[in-house]
Amino acid sequence: MACPQLVDATSAALIEAAASLDAQKLIEHARKLATLNTRFEVALNNIARGLSMFDAEGRLIICNGLYREIYGLPDELTEPGTPFSRIIAYQAAKDGSANTAEDLRRQQLWVTEHAAELQYGKIFTHTHNLPDGRIILVTVQPLEDGGWVDIQEDVTEATLARERITWLARHCPLTEIPNRFHLRERLEEALQCLGSHEKLAVHLVDLDYFKQVNDTLGHAAGDAVLKAVAKRMLATLRENDAVGRVGGDEFAIIQRGISGPEDAARLAERLVKTLNAPYRVLGSNAAIGASIGIAIAPDHGVDSDTLLRKADMALYRMKTCGRGRSYVYRTEDEAVALERMELRSALRDALKNRQLGLHYQPIVDVKAGTVTACEALMRWQHPSLGMVPPSTFIPIAETSGLILPMGEWALHQACHDAAGWRSDIKVAVNLSAVQFDQSDLAISVQRALDASGLDAERLEVEITETALLKCEARTIETLGRLRALGVRLVLDDFGTGFASLNYLRNFAFDKIKIDQSFINEMADRRDCMAIVGAVTGLARTLGIGPVAEGVEELEQLEGVTVAGCQEMQGFYFSQPVPAVEVEAAVAACVSRLAHVSSAGLSAS
Ligand code: C2E
Ligand code: MG
Ligand code: MG
Repeated sequence: MACPQLVDATSAALIEAAASLDAQKLIEHARKLATLNTRFEVALNNIARGLSMFDAEGRLIICNGLYREIYGLPDELTEPGTPFSRIIAYQAAKDGSANTAEDLRRQQLWVTEHAAELQYGKIFTHTHNLPDGRIILVTVQPLEDGGWVDIQEDVTEATLARERITWLARHCPLTEIPNRFHLRERLEEALQCLGSHEKLAVHLVDLDYFKQVNDTLGHAAGDAVLKAVAKRMLATLRENDAVGRVGGDEFAIIQRGISGPEDAARLAERLVKTLNAPYRVLGSNAAIGASIGIAIAPDHGVDSDTLLRKADMALYRMKTCGRGRSYVYRTEDEAVALERMELRSALRDALKNRQLGLHYQPIVDVKAGTVTACEALMRWQHPSLGMVPPSTFIPIAETSGLILPMGEWALHQACHDAAGWRSDIKVAVNLSAVQFDQSDLAISVQRALDASGLDAERLEVEITETALLKCEARTIETLGRLRALGVRLVLDDFGTGFASLNYLRNFAFDKIKIDQSFINEMADRRDCMAIVGAVTGLARTLGIGPVAEGVEELEQLEGVTVAGCQEMQGFYFSQPVPAVEVEAAVAACVSRLAHVSSAGLSAS
């Protein structure tokens, strides 16, 4: 629109030439005017915006091609002089309006409002949502003579991108359900609307064995399972309820309109059942489970933070007493959680402040009368709590990830200590499932061996049967790599985890340690005695050395010996002792073994 002055000037020159009847000039100015008009037209039709100009009476003066295109206007509506109101009516009809009296009134109102806005003489904008989904931003520039210029810009892409960004900030793109942030918003809204006699429940759902799906079937399968989980949850919930993905394999549900914890427990039960059903993903079958922690408003709190925290405590509590069920928060869980938190931060300091130590317990061969190995058992000397047992701190170390540096430290320390012992005594180090899962264990072990100079054959690594069952694929691979290093593999606590006999064949263990619970009850229960005998026989057939754990008394020693097992460990021979006392403990064991032998027991 920069041209009108030029057009005006050329027109004026044309008129002047006409007045003076100078034909030559007349032709020249007419040509100039035609050229200018063409350029103007080209410019108008090549700007990347729709453009139209109306006069003070609301009649179209001019518009460009894009304007026509945006609104799909027929030629007769783009003729100069077409009333603005007709163009609006045409658009309204295309929108699907029936042009009823009400529609017409609304269109009229729109035109009047538009006119009123023009009165201010300032640029204003409005957005048209076209029926085909396009979004058009219209900028209206009032003109001094009362008319106006409209500029139309197609902002569909930019608007959708903006909407997508806003959506992404509040949803999980994979499952398309609310994320942690949005779910918290929903919870806050629900809490604000909670009537004086109403209750709601917050369920925190943790998927069991999801990691294994990821590890064994790959991340694409893991993603497919997560999507299926979200779908199954949505199908189980009522419209009023909400679900969000609040962590990798953690979901939260807001259940509204319940009358008490029984309603929440019922939903949780249904959820556990539907999530437990097998998943068919990318041509494979996947199995996962779900554990659920529940907190109820207003009973357990009236704000989102408190409720989510308490649901988390309940979930933790659930997981410590098994998985695959639901548990409603109770006040006493607070103390457990607090203790866990305090211990966790103290444990972090313990590692830094060298409060952790290794004690060693001899493992003996009763028949040979020798000590074959010493097992490294971690000890935590807490400044005020005293000696914290591994059964308390190892699970905390495992859930907090601290087990990785702790385990690495134990490996190095044990190899270092053992390098100073007689070369016929091996050292056994306990390894957690988390170490098999998350660290490059074979590399850590090699480093510990290199740093200490200990022969690989003198290192035994113990993995519990339960840990073995938990993380199959990666564990198998790691066990293979450890074996390739020459390290000996020991299956710990055998009989507690229901490992199938196949495991014993496939993993090529060098030793199986029969869990102390069987030795404990051997005297009272004949089946324990039978089990010890059977495991010993089986181990021998497979060429694996059996070891009996927890031998405390002479009768147990006798029983184990009768069952055919000659390697043993237990308080009867020695308590676990600090590194500096290992030599003395070994000597004491040997003299005790000599005593046993002279009493004729080892020969039986
Ligand atoms: P474990 O590997 O089965 O170790 C044997 C446990 O039985 C030790 O308990 C030991 O002190 C105890 N014990 C030995 N002889 C007897 C006996 O005659 N009677 C009784 N009642 N108990 C006996 P501790 O030291 O409390 O360790 C418990 C568990 O903690 C270990 O069981 C092991 O699973 C875990 N643990 C210990 N140290 C470590 C470590 O460095 N890393 C990992 N990942 N776990 C460890
Ligand atoms: Mg052990
Ligand atoms: Mg054990």
